[in-house]
Amino acid sequence: MAKYVYDFTEGNRNLKDLLGGKGANLAEMTNLGLPVPHGFTITTEACRHYLAEGSVPSGLDQEVAEHLEALEAKMGRKLGQADDPLLVSVRSGAKFSMPGMMETVLNIGLNDESVHGLAKQSGGNDRFAWDSYRRLIQMFGKTVLGLDGDLFEHALDELKGRRQDTDLDSGELQQLVETYKGIVRDQTGKDFPADPREQMRLAVMAVFDSWNAPRAILYRRQERIPADLGTAVNIMAMVFGNYGNDSGTGVAFTRDPGSGQQGIYGDYLQNAQGEDVVAGIRNTIPLEDLEHLDKQSYDELVGIMETLENHYRDLCDIEFTIERGKLWMLQTRVGKRTAAAAFCIATQLVDQGLITMDEAVTRVTGDQLAQLMFPRFDGGADKKKIAKGMNASPGAAVGKAVFSSARAVELAEQGEDVILVRRETNPDDLAGMIAAKGILTSRGGKTSHAAVVARGMGKTCVCGAEELEVHTAEQRFVAPGDVVVSEGDVISIDGTTGEVFLGEVPVVDSAVVEYFEGATEPQDDLVKAVDRVMRHADRARRLGVRANADTPEDAARARRFGAQGIGLCRTEHMFLGERRQLVEDLVLASTDAERQAALDALEPLQKSDFIGIFQAMDGAPVTIRLIDPPLHEFLPDIVDLSVKVAAGQATDKDRKLLSAVKRLHEQNPMLGLRGVRLGLVIPGLFAMQVRAIAQAAAEVPGAKPEIMIPLVAAVQELESVREEAVKILAEAGVEALIGTMIEVPRAALTAAQIAEAAEFFSFGTNDLTQLAWGFSRDDVEAAFFSHYLDAGIFGVSPFETIDREGVGRLMEIAVREGRSARPDLHLGICGEHGGDPDSVRFCHEIGLDYVSCSPFRIPVARLEAGRAALTQSDSDTR
Ligand code: ADP
Ligand code: MG
Ligand code: MG
Repeated sequence: MAKYVYDFTEGNRNLKDLLGGKGANLAEMTNLGLPVPHGFTITTEACRHYLAEGSVPSGLDQEVAEHLEALEAKMGRKLGQADDPLLVSVRSGAKFSMPGMMETVLNIGLNDESVHGLAKQSGGNDRFAWDSYRRLIQMFGKTVLGLDGDLFEHALDELKGRRQDTDLDSGELQQLVETYKGIVRDQTGKDFPADPREQMRLAVMAVFDSWNAPRAILYRRQERIPADLGTAVNIMAMVFGNYGNDSGTGVAFTRDPGSGQQGIYGDYLQNAQGEDVVAGIRNTIPLEDLEHLDKQSYDELVGIMETLENHYRDLCDIEFTIERGKLWMLQTRVGKRTAAAAFCIATQLVDQGLITMDEAVTRVTGDQLAQLMFPRFDGGADKKKIAKGMNASPGAAVGKAVFSSARAVELAEQGEDVILVRRETNPDDLAGMIAAKGILTSRGGKTSHAAVVARGMGKTCVCGAEELEVHTAEQRFVAPGDVVVSEGDVISIDGTTGEVFLGEVPVVDSAVVEYFEGATEPQDDLVKAVDRVMRHADRARRLGVRANADTPEDAARARRFGAQGIGLCRTEHMFLGERRQLVEDLVLASTDAERQAALDALEPLQKSDFIGIFQAMDGAPVTIRLIDPPLHEFLPDIVDLSVKVAAGQATDKDRKLLSAVKRLHEQNPMLGLRGVRLGLVIPGLFAMQVRAIAQAAAEVPGAKPEIMIPLVAAVQELESVREEAVKILAEAGVEALIGTMIEVPRAALTAAQIAEAAEFFSFGTNDLTQLAWGFSRDDVEAAFFSHYLDAGIFGVSPFETIDREGVGRLMEIAVREGRSARPDLHLGICGEHGGDPDSVRFCHEIGLDYVSCSPFRIPVARLEAGRAALTQSDSDTR
């Protein structure tokens, strides 16, 4: 029979799939002998069953009852027992952390009787007992009963006026409990459930349901977390930070999540419970100051943080509570960090002897590296600084200030860059945070919601800029010196320094890019860390990395960024500009002689293009794709021509062009006369290109051309082109591989035949994706992709990440069959997927020889190729 409930003593950190991250780590801390309140975890499997069937699996209630009984025995009191109650929290916890996205209910077990028992238990602290009770009704009302949280907030605000929540006395809190119960009665038509077990049962189901709350769905999509994992539920004995000033609650990091520096980073709030710290209801104190309040707990905490870091061999974040001088650990996990911190921490841990360089490479991601390559603000530029907050998530963001999530989304949809400005954010702001270029808050520290979520998304964020008065309702903020910024005014925020500037500040290249460009020796710690990681990734990787580059400038940059060759040199741009004229002549040619004259004029131009690229690549291979797009793309616009003709201003050539354009018009140019089809239909076109390549190669010592034929679907297409090319190359005395793109499903399915005529394959995954799905990319992305993403048809666009099941399967077939026909077949990919981290990993897995991507993505591909070689599965390193 399935086991749905695990005591904290039964689990461990490797059981995240089953127990969720929170449950697995609570078990791990319990096993380490750290002070964790007793409790147990209901598995994600139970949640999945509940979500699929609409009811909990049979046997679950019984198992929960048994574990609750064991917990009661350990604690020596029963759940909600009138004279001496056990209270518990019911906490969500999925495999991947989703900060603040799902629900947690504290103080379960309180009712009109047990509240007195709790007061007695606490030695007559009535105020504490009523505070706990009102918190229960508030949290339960909002998360389990689905009531508007503002109803409770307003009642609390009204009662406390200008005072703080800690100033309310027990009589007032008792009165608040009555008000809250009234709200529940009015809104639901029922009384607040007094039965402790009923409270617990309802809370468990509410946690299950919160998996599918809209904000959780949105967050998962953003973070690419699968939608079908479900959440675990943790039930644990309550400990209380709201007893009085000898108690409190806090959050901490074992090192700075922004820079990676070692030290004590965190926030602490006296006489408080749970979310109070991050919700910003009162001002927290820096964790260092706890040393003066409660040295014993502080020292213990610092010791535990060290234990955890050495145990997890990584930065951890933690949540803890102090109850009357006794420290309790309530949560830990390997903490989110900025991209820069990720690199620095990885190499620091190597230097501390905690991890190997192999592991260090797996601790950073291509996405993080890409973030470090974003531009930053120009240090020399004129800037009007208006405030400074905390550097919560790095980067440079410029945009119009907006003050609500909805406006952020609205303006972003109109193509505007916006900065979302809030006093503090909450989970309802998620859509706006995703839409914005950056986030600015006036309250909250590095552990606030805004900071945590922004870091997770890699979005620039400055938080806790306390000099700013943010007036959300009036859509403006006021900075010192009476600087007023209203909606639509442009501001710039620097997430690396925490500075806020009025107006647009110009941006410059990042230090990491300068390093890749070879302009600087590694100097600062970050660049040194990147350098070490990249060198190791390069040593480890099996995949080669090439660039998509069509000009000598791009080719040279690609070389500097570490490209080992060019995987895709397009030739179509070589027909643009002044050369259009010659293409027009080619199209209009009515005799063989006229056509040949046009080709002869193009040939030396093409040749000089290739010479430039071969020189820039200095002996590295260059894969040149013969002309791919339909010829009418090079001709004048049909409307322009028609207008000219109608207005009687057309020349003779214009009139001929118009009829040519009409003749060449295609319903669906993507599927029309292009690629190899052009080469077969227009005599001499491919021959001209091959001759230009051969002659250029003959002139540049060491040049290594590879000739690539696009859009091949059948080996017969390739054979005749190949025959002609072989002849031309032989005449010029030049050697070159001749191969094909695999971008039509038929080519993938007949790869064994095609490999007979091809020395290499290069997967053109853009076209392959279009043709495998039947999607016309330009049409579908705007028209309905967001709908498909919402509906979960795919979790990420197949144009961004290779769709393993469909397109990926075609690739696997082509690899297998191609290699079986020609064992030394060289295999690469040149679609945009070549620079996408997940896709690079896939290319490694199916045994390609190289990936090719845009020059700027080359470092990302190198790193991901190294990571792929060093890890089997990436699924746990999010
Ligand atoms: P989240 O996943 O949103 O962080 P948690 O389940 O961690 O939600 O709960 C939020 C906070 O509630 C915790 O940080 C902790 O301070 C408090 N909390 C949860 N369980 C207990 C408990 N048993 N005793 C005291 N405080 C608790
Ligand atoms: Mg938590
Ligand atoms: Mg293509």
